[in-house]
Amino acid sequence: MEGRQALAARDAFDIVVIGGGINGCGIARDASGRGLSVLLVEQGDLASGTSSASTKLIHGGLRYLEQFEFRLVREALTERERLLAAAPHIIWPLRFVLPHDRGIRPAWMVRLGLFLYDHIAPRKRLPGCETIRFRQHPYGQPLKGSFKIGFAYSDCWVQDSRLVALAARDAEERGAEICVRTRFIGAQRQGDGWTVTLEDAGSPTATGGTRQVRARVLVNAAGPWVAEVLRSRLGIESTKNVRLIKGSHIVVPRLYQGEQAYILQNADRRIVFTIPYERDFTLIGTTDIAYDEEPHRIAISDAETRYLCDSVSHCFRVPVEPKDLVWSYAGVRPLFDDGSLKASVVTRDYVFDLEAAGGAPPALSVFGGKITTFRRLAEHAMDELARFFPGMKPAWTETAPLPGGDIAGGDFEAFIAALRRRKPFLDPELARRLARAYGTRVEAIIGKANRIEDLGRDFGRGLTAAEIDYLVDQEWARTADDILWRRSKLGLHLPQGVASEIDAYLEGRRRSGAEQRVSAREHSTNGLTDRQAATGRGSSA
Ligand SMILES: Cc1cc2nc3c(=O)[nH]c(=O)nc-3n(C[C@H](O)[C@H](O)[C@H](O)COP(=O)(O)OP(=O)(O)OC[C@H]3O[C@@H](n4cnc5c(N)ncnc54)[C@H](O)[C@@H]3O)c2cc1C
Repeated sequence: MEGRQALAARDAFDIVVIGGGINGCGIARDASGRGLSVLLVEQGDLASGTSSASTKLIHGGLRYLEQFEFRLVREALTERERLLAAAPHIIWPLRFVLPHDRGIRPAWMVRLGLFLYDHIAPRKRLPGCETIRFRQHPYGQPLKGSFKIGFAYSDCWVQDSRLVALAARDAEERGAEICVRTRFIGAQRQGDGWTVTLEDAGSPTATGGTRQVRARVLVNAAGPWVAEVLRSRLGIESTKNVRLIKGSHIVVPRLYQGEQAYILQNADRRIVFTIPYERDFTLIGTTDIAYDEEPHRIAISDAETRYLCDSVSHCFRVPVEPKDLVWSYAGVRPLFDDGSLKASVVTRDYVFDLEAAGGAPPALSVFGGKITTFRRLAEHAMDELARFFPGMKPAWTETAPLPGGDIAGGDFEAFIAALRRRKPFLDPELARRLARAYGTRVEAIIGKANRIEDLGRDFGRGLTAAEIDYLVDQEWARTADDILWRRSKLGLHLPQGVASEIDAYLEGRRRSGAEQRVSAREHSTNGLTDRQAATGRGSSA
């Protein structure tokens, strides 16, 4: 199994975390930074569940004010500022335009909501809301003439699946072991801990083997599978239930100029975002519908595609049709079931279920949560577990940067300018993409290169062998899909055939073996850079 080396190194842990989504990785990061020994297991790739299928906003959730979720909105808005400071490479401000439709919500209600949104939590770096007269403002350009006024406010954008990988990276650097393609099969309470069974799950080198480890505490952060893990794999009957709510997105060629997003109101009171995406595209979503099937098989339905196209076509001058789609994705929110009848109003707040009756070894299950609140959720989870680890260090993540996020003053544009001065061979588009994805860690990819050829083979759009090596060695990428759709969104820009070329390259890497690469790196000579020597590539590869 991919994680076998790590597991072999240690077979007893303070905490075993099940699930490599944002919540599992956030908890693993927080716990390992407090000095606990942590093993995280993920059955697929990191962020292969809900955490790569979100709308990708670090936001308070304007619409949750309507549901009186003040605690959640305040916490999320507070986190928005903290996360922007912790990861200014993968998180950045975004201006949202809300066209006013008085048939859906009166203007006073929207103004009141936006006033609260601006003031309910500290806001240092983002501009507040304003009223827009569309006839005089470029924001009105894509909209139909019937929309006369609207409102603009701020939130943030996040590369969601990269956030997960960075949390996992940080966890590992603080001592955690991260095992991808490793399924949690089950666990039994024995003595003062759990005996946990894990299985090799679908890595390209999968053997189907199993391993056992010991854990003092189990954390069930399996997202949409939280109830399955709790009931079927741990045999625990909980009073808490998960409510699966499906949300889908479509991607179309860019609909309008400008970097602003739109938040469109629909007659059924749901909202749909249109967001500039990956330079050439517009992301449109989401839907919010009840879901009761196996979370693995999720895909957008024709009805959802139609709904999203109609929503945009109702507001924009140029209609969007299903034939315009270049990509779509769907995910399920693993929400805490609060008994609401409508899918769109089920609470987005998180709830823990701590099972430790009669002094039995504890299992903590996570229900709900948002990408935005992952850091705080992890801190709260550790508060819940503090009594089982009396020597544990205090909370530490509030001001800690995520890997690559230690950019001086959080000034991303200055960071790119300095990068381009240092590495003038990077074209502007590639420099920006690498800086956005890796922040200060970009040095680990391009550090010793003096010309683009030093980065090895280019698979297209500047995805070089050096970058792939980094993603495998440092971010647990194992397949072309991991690289093209989760560590990056290069899958949108590159022709389909590239995936098999990347898979062949990864296979070659595996065959040549890790030890050989390490020893080649140590003995690099003959005028090759370390990286070329490490991967056996010459400069013209
Ligand atoms: C359509 C949509 C839009 C959203 N938009 C936003 C947004 O804009 N902003 C925001 O803040 N939040 C948003 N969210 C919410 C957010 O995406 C989720 O709350 C969050 O990603 C949940 O993370 P998680 O770690 O709990 O679950 P997941 O990301 O699903 O992770 C759980 C992991 O557990 C693994 N697992 C399951 N069983 C096992 C097992 N037996 N062994 C090993 N591993 C296992 C799975 O493979 C999975 O990777 C959105 C959600 C959806 C669906």
